[in-house]
Amino acid sequence: MSKDKNISIEDVIENASTYLDSEELEFVVRAYEFANQAHEGQIRKSGEPYIIHPVQVAGILVNFKMDHETIAGGFLHDVVEDTDVSLEDIEKNFNAEVAMLVDGVTKLGKFKFKSKEALQAENHRKMFVAMAKDIRVILIKLADRLHNMRTLKHLPPEKQRRISNETLEIFAPLAHRLGMSTIKWELEDTAFRYMNPQQYYRIVQLMDQKRDQRESYIDEVMKEVADQLKEVNVEANISGRPKHIYSTYRKMKTQNIEFTEIYDLLAVRVIVKSIKDCYAVLGIIHTCWKPMPGRFKDYIAMPKPNLYQSLHTTVIGPKGDPLEVQIRTEEMHEIAEYGIAAHWAYKEGKPLKQGENSVEKRLPWFREILERQTEEQDAEEFVESLKIDLFSDMVYVFTPKGEVIELPSGSIPLDFAYRIHTEIGNKTVGARVNGKMEPLDYKLSNGDIVEVITSKHSYGPSQDWLKITQSSQARSKIKQYFKHQKREENIEKGKLDIETGIKALKLTSKEVLTDENISRVCEKFNFKTLEDLYAAVGYQGITASLIVTRLTDKIRKQQEQEEQLEQVIEKTNSDKRTRPKHTKDNSGIEVEGIDNILVRLSRCCNPVPGDDITGYITKGRGVSVHRSDCPNVQTQEARERYLKVKWIDDLEHQKEYYLDLEISGYDRHGLINDVLQSVNEISTQIAEVSGRADKNKIAHIHITVLIKNKEHLREVISTIKQVKDIYAVTRTVH
Ligand code: MN
Repeated sequence: MSKDKNISIEDVIENASTYLDSEELEFVVRAYEFANQAHEGQIRKSGEPYIIHPVQVAGILVNFKMDHETIAGGFLHDVVEDTDVSLEDIEKNFNAEVAMLVDGVTKLGKFKFKSKEALQAENHRKMFVAMAKDIRVILIKLADRLHNMRTLKHLPPEKQRRISNETLEIFAPLAHRLGMSTIKWELEDTAFRYMNPQQYYRIVQLMDQKRDQRESYIDEVMKEVADQLKEVNVEANISGRPKHIYSTYRKMKTQNIEFTEIYDLLAVRVIVKSIKDCYAVLGIIHTCWKPMPGRFKDYIAMPKPNLYQSLHTTVIGPKGDPLEVQIRTEEMHEIAEYGIAAHWAYKEGKPLKQGENSVEKRLPWFREILERQTEEQDAEEFVESLKIDLFSDMVYVFTPKGEVIELPSGSIPLDFAYRIHTEIGNKTVGARVNGKMEPLDYKLSNGDIVEVITSKHSYGPSQDWLKITQSSQARSKIKQYFKHQKREENIEKGKLDIETGIKALKLTSKEVLTDENISRVCEKFNFKTLEDLYAAVGYQGITASLIVTRLTDKIRKQQEQEEQLEQVIEKTNSDKRTRPKHTKDNSGIEVEGIDNILVRLSRCCNPVPGDDITGYITKGRGVSVHRSDCPNVQTQEARERYLKVKWIDDLEHQKEYYLDLEISGYDRHGLINDVLQSVNEISTQIAEVSGRADKNKIAHIHITVLIKNKEHLREVISTIKQVKDIYAVTRTVH
């Protein structure tokens, strides 16, 4: 298929008809018609009708001989994202599988995320998870990306760079890991042209120089190989190996060599009928020309993890230059070019899905993606670690039982240990490599037999391990270990803080920490267990005093009632004093005409000194004090029980009061942090914080602060209002 010209829908259908049955073909045609209608009137940046894009994507999938559902997915891949059609519509009109495929390539809504990067990471995670469930998702996505790269010139430069960068970071490595070299090379070279045009065109130019000379030399070499093979009757297809621009550039950069050093290396590819012939050809080549030591690689006996198989060798060629030779069968060649797609393609009527040929069996790294995504909660971290693994070269080592373990190159015995099992990793104290004791940071090489030595008495991972391990898997396991260990410490600390708080109230842990109290408070603050609560207090996610206050609510209420009873008795016996005495609970309130009465500041409006206040007598719970403008004192009941109250001016025993503030502003990255910092800067204590963003990108932040008086409150509010992007700060009335 030409890369520059669009394929027509008629050609896509005709190509598909060569391997789909009539029912499947009808399914595919229906998907096209559905997409055509959905995208009706939409225009691409190139000025063409939108439907041309899904048709090209489906065309690429047909080229790979994909099944009818995948092709339908190719036609429909943009309808949910770009039109009014819903996933339910797709499921209704087609089936659940197609809906799942389309969902896998549909991006998430934009409003939920704090930044572009977070959104992109979440989109990548969604795609990886969908792909781990069904590989066809990524085949559609790669076809989509390939066509988008082919038509990238229609986009503004900034978008070209962003998309090219994402292609180089995610999609080309992914295509590589799936063995789809043809897609990988095209993605890489196109993206590279946009990312670094100078270097791109420089290499193109260098390649063009001396081209004739080089080609005639390669022709000569190929003829000689052909003659040799003819003599022993081996049928073979011999070709020069195409060079790719981006891979040449990478080689120059990573090995720090000049263009000429790469291009003097001649390369020839020999494709034969059987595996036996592969080794026969190798033997002939090694007898004709002297093999260079250390350059022979048998990827037939030991395929690469992306399924690639071939024999590689480098010999000193006819003119004394190194000559690289790749030898493989036709089937291996197909897999070398199309990778997993070649496996997935229609064979004998039906695609391969389960059993020996399932993707999970063929690509073990795939399973790891699935496992990992449940461990790493943060999407950005997850995608970062994937990028590392997608990019790395690999080293293959053996367990003592002969099982092959694949690790990023540069891996050490610790990476190996964590790959076997987390517990083994955590308890590793030493390693034997090929029967010899080696240090834990020993760099493993291909073919090493690795045996890990563990001990029950090991101290567990050290922070240094994070620096010396190579695999993101080992690192994330070590990090988890520390998180977990710190958790133990936090639980200890939180427990102590709460017990101290309880003691300060002259209560005992035994009477406060009842099952009922614990479950009530855990529920209120959304903790699953008491340990979670302790841990949160331990790392200061929530203050111990707030928890203690809530834990002792009921007990204190009981005490209050008892005290009230005492008060009644006391009141009858006392002579009226003009000078008010502080109330027992030290609320900072004086009730006119009565002392020694229990006073509660209401939690609905949280009055602070300086506020106009009103009190009323409650049934059995003393005097409840509200702000005068609080709707809760405008009731009939409150008016009937009205009491005059005022603040006591007492600077010596200045008290602080919990007060809730509702803050709203533009939901940008770091907003909550800025608010907390501004409050912190005026040394005001924060007891609780929560926040959410609505779909209009407005953030609603709720904080509970400790306030001394109205003036202090004014200062806090005006400080918060000065934070960039804050619209409003209000005092909450429940
Ligand atoms: Mn698309």
